[in-house]
Amino acid sequence: RAMPRFTMAVRSRELTATPILTKLQKDCATPLPLLRHVADAMASDMRAGLSADGGSDLKMILSYVDSLPSGNEKGLFYALDLGGTNFRVLRVQLGGKEERVIATEFEQVSIPQDFMFGTSEKLFDFIASGLAKFAQNEGGKFHLPSGRIREIGFTFSFPVKQTSIDSGILIKWTKGFAVSGTAGRDVVACLNEAMERQGLDMRVSALVNDSVGTLAGARYWDDDVMVAVILGTGTNACYVERLAAIPKLQGQMSSTGETIINTEWGAFSNGLPLTVYDREMDNASINPGEQIFEKTISGMYLGEIVRRVLLKMAEDSDLFGASVPAKLAAPHVLRTPDICAMQQDNSDDLQAVGSILYNVAGVESNLRARSIVVEVCDTIVQRGGRLAGAGIVGILQKMEEDSKGLIFGKRTVVAMDGGLYENYPQYREYLQGAVTDLLGTDISNNVIIEHSKDGSGIGAALLAASNSKYEHDY
Ligand code: BGC
Ligand code: MG
Repeated sequence: RAMPRFTMAVRSRELTATPILTKLQKDCATPLPLLRHVADAMASDMRAGLSADGGSDLKMILSYVDSLPSGNEKGLFYALDLGGTNFRVLRVQLGGKEERVIATEFEQVSIPQDFMFGTSEKLFDFIASGLAKFAQNEGGKFHLPSGRIREIGFTFSFPVKQTSIDSGILIKWTKGFAVSGTAGRDVVACLNEAMERQGLDMRVSALVNDSVGTLAGARYWDDDVMVAVILGTGTNACYVERLAAIPKLQGQMSSTGETIINTEWGAFSNGLPLTVYDREMDNASINPGEQIFEKTISGMYLGEIVRRVLLKMAEDSDLFGASVPAKLAAPHVLRTPDICAMQQDNSDDLQAVGSILYNVAGVESNLRARSIVVEVCDTIVQRGGRLAGAGIVGILQKMEEDSKGLIFGKRTVVAMDGGLYENYPQYREYLQGAVTDLLGTDISNNVIIEHSKDGSGIGAALLAASNSKYEHDY
């Protein structure tokens, strides 16, 4: 049995990787009609999710954030941000309309792998102890009137069924988290219990998704912000919706106001151009069948898709010489920052590509191999960026259909945050390109897609301020 396999392998190694690349490019293509279909599907999935809980891939979660920051917020507030790779604590002294942000300080800790796979208590103890340490060193720039408890805006970047502005139940973990005992529980209660174990007396005044925090943070500076999108380890989008356009509310609230809807668009799956590499990655993931849009466009997965393509090329062709580099077989060795760095190499001999391949995958490569690798990266990043752009257009389109002229007829800002968007220039260009292709230049000139640096931290603190249990009167 070993014989035929051996001869096959020898014969196939003489093949070039080009047909695999050509097939990949074909399978990942995002021509305009496909993007249009994705945007339309996004819009109709949004409507279905607004009609009934469970009506769509998109959960369309009520954020309980009905009023966005006005600029009048005052006082000392904390924010806690648990998202993908990092955990952050932040404090901000808000000075109202005139002074705005008087002082801000933050600390960031990367989350050790074992906390992502441990128990709920262990993770929340880690967070609460980080917060306790940070809160101890509150310098002179910050001021809390006596008799007040420190209030926190808690950015928790996972799908949560909000039950009020300051409580919500974790639906499921995403982005590689597999913590036991949190799903189905109120995450604010989990944090409160851990703070009690730490002897820490602080109060969560607002529980928000990172997309919602970003929208709030960006709106603080710019009244035209209507949508916020996260493109980081994971992905999500939220937007300002009219209560009258949310049938599943069944008139529970007055129908005149507005609220923010957290779409949880990472779960979108309609009409995406997927390949065998995507399917195999999904099967091997800790959440197979879930978060398919996220797995196609976000930072946790782009490098891994590229790795799977390169492994296939190494196995079926002579891309990296006669043998398959063993390191390349390890899931997630190639990270999105690596493929980003390779795409920034403009040198003739692709020296940087060569050393990244060598360092992360133990691969020796010639110039031909390096340029194929760059093409693979570009194919996956182009697909991701353009699909993200189509998703944004889907949201804007839905809003415009409901309120003719109020979105496309004036300046509308989409606030972006997340490491992928922030650090990957090609991704940003592909995203913007798809938006322009879909909307045409006249309309897309009115749609401003811009980075809102650290919106979600300040945004959560601002929402803690507007939902403070104290009067904001000093
Ligand atoms: C989560 C969202 C979050 C997004 C970006 C997704 O995996 O489901 O709640 O907003 O990642 O952090
Ligand atoms: Mg984040």
